[in-house]
Amino acid sequence: MSDFRFSLVLPKPIIEEILKRASSSPIEICGFLLGRENKVSEVVFVKNGLDSPVEFEMEPEEMLKALEYAEGKGLEVVGIFHSHISCPPTPSGKDLRGMNLWPVVWLIVNSSGEYGAWKLENGKVVGVEVRIVNRGS
Ligand SMILES: [Zn+2]
Repeated sequence: MSDFRFSLVLPKPIIEEILKRASSSPIEICGFLLGRENKVSEVVFVKNGLDSPVEFEMEPEEMLKALEYAEGKGLEVVGIFHSHISCPPTPSGKDLRGMNLWPVVWLIVNSSGEYGAWKLENGKVVGVEVRIVNRGS
C-alpha cells in the first residue's frame, strides 16, 4: 500500500533518456512530459534559457514550439521535468514558485539517477508516485 494520492505513468525509455541526459549535462535540463491524463507518451526537451547548474527557465521560443507541437498532436502537458545537479530531487523555493504557475506534476531528477515527482495540492507540495512502465503497457 502506498500513500500516494496521485501517480505519474512514465514509460521506461523516457525516464532513462531524461536520466541519461541529466547525468551528462553540466547545467540543469528541462522540458515537458506530454500525454493524456497521468500517462506520459512523449518527452520534449527544452533548452534551459538560464544555462545554469542551479536553476532553470525554459527558453521561451523553444517552450512555445513544444507547446504548439503538443497541441498539434492533441497531447496535454502531463508534467514538467528538470534536473538538479548533485542535489536531492526535491522542489527548491524557486521550483515552488514555478509549480504555482504550472500546476501540473513536476518530475525532478538528479545527476546521480535519483528522481521524484511532486505536485501542489491546496498550496502544499505532495509526493506523486512514479510508475515506470514498459512502452505500450
Ligand atoms: Zn529545481
